[in-house]
Amino acid sequence: MPLVLGIDTSCDDTGVGIVRADVVLANVVDSQTALHAEFGGVVPEQASREHLAVIDATVQTALERAGAELGDLEGVAATHGPGLVGALLVGLSYGKALAWGLGVPFVPVHHLAGHIAAASSEPPFLALIASGGHTALFDVDDGGGISELGRSRDDAAGEAFDKVARLLGLGYPGGAALSKLAEQGDDHGVQLPWPMQGSNGLEFSFSGLKTAVALLLQRQPEVSEADVAATFERIAIGSLVEVTERALRATGRSKLVVAGGVAANRRLREAFAGSDVEVLFPPPALATDNGAMIALAGAQVLAGARQGAKVLAGAQQGSGFKAEARTANTDPSLTVDASPYLPLARPAS
Ligand code: ADP
Ligand code: MG
Repeated sequence: MPLVLGIDTSCDDTGVGIVRADVVLANVVDSQTALHAEFGGVVPEQASREHLAVIDATVQTALERAGAELGDLEGVAATHGPGLVGALLVGLSYGKALAWGLGVPFVPVHHLAGHIAAASSEPPFLALIASGGHTALFDVDDGGGISELGRSRDDAAGEAFDKVARLLGLGYPGGAALSKLAEQGDDHGVQLPWPMQGSNGLEFSFSGLKTAVALLLQRQPEVSEADVAATFERIAIGSLVEVTERALRATGRSKLVVAGGVAANRRLREAFAGSDVEVLFPPPALATDNGAMIALAGAQVLAGARQGAKVLAGAQQGSGFKAEARTANTDPSLTVDASPYLPLARPAS
């Protein structure tokens, strides 16, 4: 069973993980949250520089935790997108150079395919990824092929939580604090608009809701902040759940994987409790950005190539990049497109 190292530097965390097939041996995340907190959001240039400063040490720590040496690695995977281009390039260049130096295959992995792989679940299933950077629904078919069903047309769900938290003076990233404040409020205490009202589609939208909160706070500064938090949370999570349920009905899937930082939300966790749908939340360390999920996706690609099976990590038509495993990384046809945004298969419409 191949030992695979995975790297994620798509945004503000340097993640390095090591797996053997689907077993996580190490998952080290060097978080930059504190670094960016004073700016109220991720500063891309700062993020790239910090990745560069810590990536080598993070790889060393992961090797120690896994009880492995560089020579034990049989594959290296790194996120090639989507993400901040300067940040991505650090992990991607490091990963490619490491693979080249070791003479092992390099697997470029789509960040969201990594989140899906973290669920370690047998396909078919539906995946809802809701983080600070992404909100999207994916269908994973019997063979593990991934296609996007819909995404947010504006803000990501976590981004909306963070922006509303900032309006309420809760700091950054404020999703968890906002959710805590919401526990003390009336979730019908104020009036806010339901996103994408009347839509039957599989898209999300959160910026109108966020703007409505900003306007409300301007017009009625005396309003209960807990009521605003509770009402916002009910609607934001309710809208996530509404679109996801629509996708479950449309696809007939009975299994749902929920990943990304917003998966920690209590309301979201409780939303599917009474339903027939089997809902899987990866453990928190695997649900937010990390390197182990990239290693898991990479290991699936390598195993798939060896077994001739269809594979998970975006190696499908229309994905705009080649993710097939190569037996030797000197293969001239090994191409990695490191452009900042590479979608999986586009929604049908
Ligand atoms: P990214 O790296 O794309 O920002 P992560 O997967 O690291 O995303 O998740 C962070 C996001 O999750 C932040 O936007 C944060 O506010 C949000 N978040 C964390 N906990 C909660 C919660 N309990 N409720 C809602 N959002 C949350
Ligand atoms: Mg993050």
